[in-house]
Amino acid sequence: MFTKILIANRGEIACRVAASCARLAIKTVAVYSDADAASKHVAACGEAVHIGGSAPKDSYLRWEKIIAAAKATGAQAIHPGYGFLSENEEFAQACANAGLVFIGPPPSAIQSMGLKAESKRLMEAANVPLVPGYHGVNQDAALLQAEADAIGYPVLIKASAGGGGKGMRAVDKAEDFAAALASCKREAINSFGDDAVLIEKYVQRPRHIEIQVFGDTFGNYVYLFERDCSVQRRHQKVLEEAPAPGMTEHLRRQMGEAAVAAARAVKYVGAGTVEFIVEQPGGYDHPEAMRFYFMEMNTRLQVEHPVTEAITGQDLVEWQLRVASGEPLPCKQEDLKIHGHAIEARICAENPDNNFLPATGTLHVYGLPVCTTFERADHAVRVDSGVREFDPISPFYDSMVAKLIVHGATREEALARLDTALAQTHIVGLATNVQFLRHVTTSASFAQAQLDTALIPREAAVLFNQEKVGLPMATAAMVADMLVREHALAQHATVHGWIDPWAQRDGWRSHGASNREFKLEFHGEPHTALFTRLHDGGLQLTVDGHTAALRYAQVAGGALDVRYGDLRATVHLYKKGEVAHVFTAQGATQIVAIDALAHAGEAQTEGGRLTAPMPGKVVSFAVKAGDVVKKGQALAVMEAMKMEHTIAAPADGTVAELLFAPGDQVTEGAELLKLALVE
Ligand code: ADP
Ligand code: ADP
Ligand code: MG
Repeated sequence: MFTKILIANRGEIACRVAASCARLAIKTVAVYSDADAASKHVAACGEAVHIGGSAPKDSYLRWEKIIAAAKATGAQAIHPGYGFLSENEEFAQACANAGLVFIGPPPSAIQSMGLKAESKRLMEAANVPLVPGYHGVNQDAALLQAEADAIGYPVLIKASAGGGGKGMRAVDKAEDFAAALASCKREAINSFGDDAVLIEKYVQRPRHIEIQVFGDTFGNYVYLFERDCSVQRRHQKVLEEAPAPGMTEHLRRQMGEAAVAAARAVKYVGAGTVEFIVEQPGGYDHPEAMRFYFMEMNTRLQVEHPVTEAITGQDLVEWQLRVASGEPLPCKQEDLKIHGHAIEARICAENPDNNFLPATGTLHVYGLPVCTTFERADHAVRVDSGVREFDPISPFYDSMVAKLIVHGATREEALARLDTALAQTHIVGLATNVQFLRHVTTSASFAQAQLDTALIPREAAVLFNQEKVGLPMATAAMVADMLVREHALAQHATVHGWIDPWAQRDGWRSHGASNREFKLEFHGEPHTALFTRLHDGGLQLTVDGHTAALRYAQVAGGALDVRYGDLRATVHLYKKGEVAHVFTAQGATQIVAIDALAHAGEAQTEGGRLTAPMPGKVVSFAVKAGDVVKKGQALAVMEAMKMEHTIAAPADGTVAELLFAPGDQVTEGAELLKLALVE
């Protein structure tokens, strides 16, 4: 076995590989770009070498730099992860030339499977079933059109060198073929530098089912069963599971043996995935009628490999390391068994409600479900993540933030566990697909395993623009959270012997009943709320004119049990400036609340002097000298006790002077700015 390897990747997969290495006492070397200097994968490895600028072409794709880093640090082998250099046969060859082991298949196997058309010619020879289509060398447009006509529409034009869902065009009728061909070729030459295409019958309502295979240097092969990756957007996987629902023993063996035949045909070594498109002519209820066709082979570890690990109890990275170091496969086909059911959800920084637009930003809150650590035993909930709280999601790399993998005795159990784990995933700072994934998980099609690649468009009505936490609960949660914070501040003030005007603000208690008004913003719409403390101490909340009793209690894990009228929820709430991010078991939402009373800040202001209500840091000013401001308008944000507090104008006026700069520490009572009040 190796004693030290270099990991030529970043993010979650680099951390994932490092975890197995740590368990096997193999030292690790990370490489990193400028943007990744402080990233988690660097911390996860024993050593790290800077290899260049943030763009992949300046760092993670510079293989001469990576090989030099491996040589300089005494690594014996390089693990390429997925993406980047993992399917680059020149890199694999360059490693060998430098006396380093490339942890992956031989360059010849990468090359044979690298082009979809060439691989299909090879698979045809190995008797692996293919999608009816044309994958010849002749690229004459008239010939391609004739082939498409012969296959019958709809057809799919695919860039032979394509990947990641790019370079594909579905064509419904003969008249559209020429234009689609031209546009596909344009995208192919731009994205992959090669405009060769192949044509396939467009399979209706297909499933994507792939087989994990493994080979060693002694010519042994096994398959580690299948993964169903039918839930896709833009031909990219969103949820993956193993085993495939409805899979029969007979079909599993047929597909497994076809995948092994594919691997054998190219003298494959290491981890690989043979992807099949599966036709369901009998519909969802007749899985025994499923027919499978070879689509492509991915000559690397796949993003979704953890579901296979969960059902087989094997560590596929350990297998890769053993095979690459010259050991035989750790087990034989008959030793492999399927245990239970596993599902992976890809958590991405993107906005599903805006056409999955990728998002960048900082992970201000990054709360994950409680996991069993990555171990080979039953990992009921596993998170593979390449980021930590406060890390940025930069525009340089892909938008995947983490993978959430659940395991259960049955598919139902795994589904329920996935929904709970997603509910416990609290991300604040950028848009994510977490709630969308919950909607997919609980949709009728997914729950009933009616799987095909059109699941997302078919269920669109329940997947997009869903709101599971309404305005009343969001407002109640926001008010309850505010009361809890103020109570904590009041106690803090007492302990430290301060005279804290913020704490004194709940002085209404001594005056019996009192009211407090809020201006709300929910989904871009304005609303109002009125909070009332009754003479008997009871709490009442009126939202848009509807009044009900409010009750709350602090419960374990920093959550609040909030009851408002007939509604009840366990709430986790995070405030970022004026925005409250509300997470409940039902869903998540955001609400903006401007507290008219807090903004009046009566204790801090005398004749236009605006003072700090507590010792802390000035985060920002929302105004500059000369600005005309309205009563209640936000003027500055202060931070104290890890919370942000907005300082608002007590009355209409004009900002005369700012007395501090953002970042300054201020003492309690320090004058922050001067306001010229309108009399
Ligand atoms: P497929 O190629 O069949 O879509 P995957 O879904 O496993 O297989 O991977 C999607 C594609 O995007 C692959 O080409 C993979 O190399 C790349 N990819 C996915 N996630 C990442 C990532 N986090 N970093 C780099 N490349 C990635
Ligand atoms: P990539 O290299 O981008 O992963 P694939 O050939 O693996 O390309 O195809 C990606 C996805 O496109 C598949 O998972 C499937 O959803 C869809 N697809 C591919 N071929 C067909 C086909 N012949 N008919 C219908 N859908 C297809
Ligand atoms: Mg693919």
